[in-house]
This record gives sequence, structure tokens and C-alpha cells, in this order.
Amino acid sequence: MPKLLNIFGVMPKVFLLVIICIPGQVVANPASPLPCIRFLKSIAQKQDKPYLELYALSTVQPEKAIKRLPKVTKMLLPDYSPFRKAIYLLIQYNIEQAEGDDDVKVQGYISKLHKLGEETQIKWIQAEASFLQAVEWVDKRKYADAAALLMEVEADARELGYASLLARTIKWQANIDIDHSEYKEGLKRYQQAYDLFIECGDTLQVAQVLSNMSTLHIRMEEWPKADFYIQQALDIYRKHDFSNPFAEAILYINVSVIDKYLNRPQERIKHIKKAMVLASKTSSYRVKLTALMNLSAVYLDANRPQKALENAMACLNLAEKVGEPRGVAYCNESLGEAYFKLGELEAALKHTSFARDNYQKLGDRKRYIYISNLIADIFEEAGDYKEALKYYKTYANDDKEYLFDVRRKELFDLQERFDAKVKEQEITLLKTENELNSARIAEQKARENSLRVGVLFILFVLYLLYRRYKDVRRDNEVLEQSNAELTTQSIQDPLTKLHNRRYLQLWLKSAPKHFKQPTSLLALLDIDHFKAINDKLGHDVGDQVLIILAQRLKETICCDDLVVRWGGEEFLLIINTCKTEAESVLEHLRLLVSDSKFTTNGGDITVTVSIGAAVSETPEALQENWESMLQAADKALYNVKSAGRNGYQLSTSSS
Ligand code: GH3
Ligand code: MG
Ligand code: MG
Repeated sequence: MPKLLNIFGVMPKVFLLVIICIPGQVVANPASPLPCIRFLKSIAQKQDKPYLELYALSTVQPEKAIKRLPKVTKMLLPDYSPFRKAIYLLIQYNIEQAEGDDDVKVQGYISKLHKLGEETQIKWIQAEASFLQAVEWVDKRKYADAAALLMEVEADARELGYASLLARTIKWQANIDIDHSEYKEGLKRYQQAYDLFIECGDTLQVAQVLSNMSTLHIRMEEWPKADFYIQQALDIYRKHDFSNPFAEAILYINVSVIDKYLNRPQERIKHIKKAMVLASKTSSYRVKLTALMNLSAVYLDANRPQKALENAMACLNLAEKVGEPRGVAYCNESLGEAYFKLGELEAALKHTSFARDNYQKLGDRKRYIYISNLIADIFEEAGDYKEALKYYKTYANDDKEYLFDVRRKELFDLQERFDAKVKEQEITLLKTENELNSARIAEQKARENSLRVGVLFILFVLYLLYRRYKDVRRDNEVLEQSNAELTTQSIQDPLTKLHNRRYLQLWLKSAPKHFKQPTSLLALLDIDHFKAINDKLGHDVGDQVLIILAQRLKETICCDDLVVRWGGEEFLLIINTCKTEAESVLEHLRLLVSDSKFTTNGGDITVTVSIGAAVSETPEALQENWESMLQAADKALYNVKSAGRNGYQLSTSSS
């Protein structure tokens, strides 16, 4: 970090002043026309001419103006024109500002001008007074008030067409910008002011603006650019017959600062000495102080502490004499550093600590930070490492903040540009990422869709299979049912719902084994004269008779017994009974038919049956001798028919 202080702050060893103290306009040669007082000329009367000339002189050659002032003052007294009074006050202000060392006087002239403006309500006087007030406020660091006032002055100057005032106002607005690290805005304003001054031909002001642009670049530590502008300012100054030691001294002080950083030690000494000579010609203690401080810094850098000490002491004496607290602080710092170089640590500490306290009181943070570093070095040299560390920490921590302040705007600008770029990149990245994500999502969706389609397809297939399964199951059920029906049909007589002959064959293979009684009665039952019923009452009635008879037979037999329709109007029964009961069973069957009339569509009719039967002794015998038993029963039936019907006969041949 270079140890430098520029325009509005002073860094150790180098003290810089911006040319801010000359508000008046000037011409290259006072004898030539004064273009930048066009406005004042336009409103001046013939007899005002000497005042305007002196006014111009007060900016270009204030020393000469001082000499002529009493003469003009005499001229002024009988004439009390507000114009002349205003110009006269401006001349006095210029002289006091450039050469004097009395702030109170300066403020007095401003107040008088302001009062005059208020009383006469002359706008240009009011605007000039406000402008000078703003300049004073900047000097006292009341930047907000100054900026607000300058805005008003700018508007008034534009309205009046007062180009010189407008240019000076813009220049001062730029000075405030620079102090606020608003470099971009400041540079823009300096350029505007520069153009206006060029147009006016106000060469000294042009040089001052160039000098201010140089200090802007010093502040930004852009040394080659700073050098470019200061050299231009110096060129203009040299080419013209200016005799303003105040302004010239400042130029040489500034160029010596640049010399330091552009590593031109010889020129640096030459320039600061020239500044010293110029400073001695002016009564401005500020210029003298600054020159002395810088000279002291030059000697310190050149490792000539004794010389540095002498100049620092002279500097301190002057500062204390004029009661300039900032100067007192600066000079104490230089003095402290000189003592430090000379190894007089106690004295060094005394002056640097004093300077540090003053900087704190003045609110000069930059100086406070840098002197903390110097004090740390002194303590370190004295072997007090604890204290050294304490001060160094203040320096190191505050330094970062200070750097941030000074370069804040540039950094912000850079940051903004960088951010914009980064954001652009981020957006591009995001876009790419989005596209990638979209592609991924699309792919994922496609996958999901195909999966979905696959799942749907599988579900559909499963559904189809399920349906098929259900159909098959239903078909199976239907089939089973129809099979069952078929089975039933195959073993059942559809009219009477009794089992048929086929069933009898199946039954014979197993059922008799479960008979509780060993004896089985086989009975063949045939309806008598059934044909006649059909013939007489119709086939349907014949069917009804068959159904009723089947019902009666079914109801009368036990669960193990069997009744089947043997064919036509013949029924076969196998009844599990004991042998002795056989005939009564047969009689019961006969009566079962004949005793109760059959209620049919053809009326209640009496039906009789003839029964032929045979008996088997064992179930096995029934199975084995089935054919012969059947024949025996049939024969017995035939016998009953022959005997007149409505009866029964049990075959005597048993199996
Ligand atoms: P018998 O006393 O000698 O037995 O005389 P019948 O008339 O009963 O015997 P026949 O053999 O002469 O006649 C039997 C009749 O039974 C002939 C036939 O038309 C009738 N028949 C056979 N099956 C059915 C049937 O399912 N329904 C009706 N309504 N008639 C039937
Ligand atoms: Mg028959
Ligand atoms: Mg019959």
C-alpha cells in the first residue's frame, strides 16, 4: 500500500492540494478581452470597466490586484452601485482567498455579498454569494449542504446564462464527487467544466480543471494518467503570463507527489523546491504549510531526517501560529516520523500520538489509520511489542475499511460489471441446465410413459387374461352345469323326475351294500289300462297320472330304497325290508295308488296298478341274480294282469 495522501486527504510524507481555492475566472493576458466575464460585461456600465479589469486581475495576479485595490476603493466610495459593490467584494474575496490567511475575513466578504444580493434582489449577486458559500462549506467538509446549494446555483447560472459561474459550479460539484469517490460522475463533470472554460477561453481555469483531473487519477493511483494531466496543466501555465504563485505552487506540489510514484526522485526534489519558492511568494499559509509538509516528506524519503525535522518544525510553528488544526496534526506527524528516523523514540511517540488524537478529533480516518501504523513501528522499535501489536491491529483492520471506502465506487462499478457478467454466465448456465433438465425430464417422462404404457399393457393383458379366465371359468361352470345337467338328464326321467334304468345299473353296483336289512324286495309296478286313460282323457292327463304316481311312490319309500321309471307306465322299486314284511309292503303300494283318486286336468280319476315282485336274501344276491329276479318279478306281474289286475304277486323263487 503506497503511503500517499492525495487531494482531500493527505498520506504520510506526501501532501497534496487540489486547486480549489480560486473561484474567479481569469484570462491569459489581462490586456486582452475577458471572454468569461461576458455575462458581467453584458450587464456592466461603462464606468464599471476598471472594476471588471481588477476583478480579472485578482484571479490571475492577485499580488498586482492588491496594489491597485486602494485606488479602486477610493473610486467606489462615492458610487454605491450594487454592481460595483458586488465586484469589489469579489475582488476582496479573491485576494483574501489566494493570499490571505484569515478565514473570518473570507467568510465576512461572503456574508456581505449575500446581504447585498438579498437587499437588491439581484440574482447574479445572490448566485455568486451562494456559490462562494458552497465553496467555503466544502472547505469545512459540509458536503451535503454544499452540494444542495451548488444545485441551486447551477440552476440559477443556467437561467441567467452566466457561463463562468456555471462552469465553476460544475467544477466544484465534481470536487465533491471525487471526495465521495464518485469518480465516474466527477470525471463527467470535470469534462463539462473543461469544455465550458475552453469555450470561454478561461485558460487558468482550464489548467485548474486539468490539475484536478490529475489529482483524481492520483487518488485512484493511476500515476501515468495523473502525470499526463498535471503536465498539461503545467504547460498551459508556463505558456501564459500567469502570476498566481498560489495556484502555481499547488501545481508543483502535486507534480512532486506524482514524481514520487513515478520514481523521479530528482524531479521530485526540484519540483517541491520550486513549490517552496512559489509558496514563499504567497501569503497563503495553506500552500506554505503543504509545501513544508511535502518538503519534510521528501527529506524523510531521502533519508535525511535532520532536514526533515527542521522543515517539520517550521511547518508546526506556522500551523500553530495560524491556528490550523489540520496543519498542526500533519506537521506533528512529520515531526514524529523525523524523530523516529533519528531514533528519538520518546519524542516520536509524543508527536505521533498527538497527531493521532488530532486526526481522531478532526474525523480524518485515513490519517488516523496510517499514523497508527507509524506508532506501531515506533513501539516495535522500542521493544514494546504488546503496544505495537495493538496499534498495528488498528491499522490493519481499519486499513481494510478505508481501502474499501476509497475504492468503494470503483469496486462497486467493477463488481457490477463483474456481477453482470457473472449473472450473464449464470443465466447461460441456468439455461443450459434447464435445457438439460428439460431433456432429462422429457427422457424420464418418455421412460415413465413407456413404463406406464408397459404397465397399462400388462394390466390390459392381465385384464384380458382375467376376463378370459372368468369366461373360461363361467364356461367351465356352464359346462360343469350342463355336464351335471347332462349327467342328471342321463340318469333321470325328465317327466317324473325319477331316476331311470341307467341309474339303476349304477345304483346296483354299490347301494345295496349299505342296506340295513339283508332282504331286498324288487317290485315291478304297471298301471292298469293306461292306454285307455290316454285314449279317453288325452296324453297330457296320462302324463299327469304318471307324475302323480311317481310323486306318491317317492314319498312312500325310505331313503335307502329306490324307485325308477322302468319304461312307459311301468315303475321298478327296490325296497330294503325283511322278508316277512314284503307282502304288506306290496299291498301298501297297491293301496297307495288305488285308494286315493288322481286329480288331473281330466278330473279325479281312479287308477290301479298291478305289481309283480321277487325277493333276494342278501344284497350280493340282488346284484348277482338281478336278471333272474327281474324275470321272476315280471312273471309275477304278468300273473297279476292275467288274474284281473289291481293286485300283487310275490314270486316264490327267492335268490
Ligand atoms: P294293461 O292293463 O294290459 O297293462 O293295459 P294297458 O293299456 O295299460 O297296456 P298297453 O301296453 O296296451 O298300453 C300301454 C300304453 O301306455 C301305450 C302307450 O301309449 C302308453 N304310454 C306309454 N308311455 C306313455 C307316456 O309316457 N305317456 C302317456 N300318456 N302314455 C304312455
Ligand atoms: Mg305296460
Ligand atoms: Mg299297463
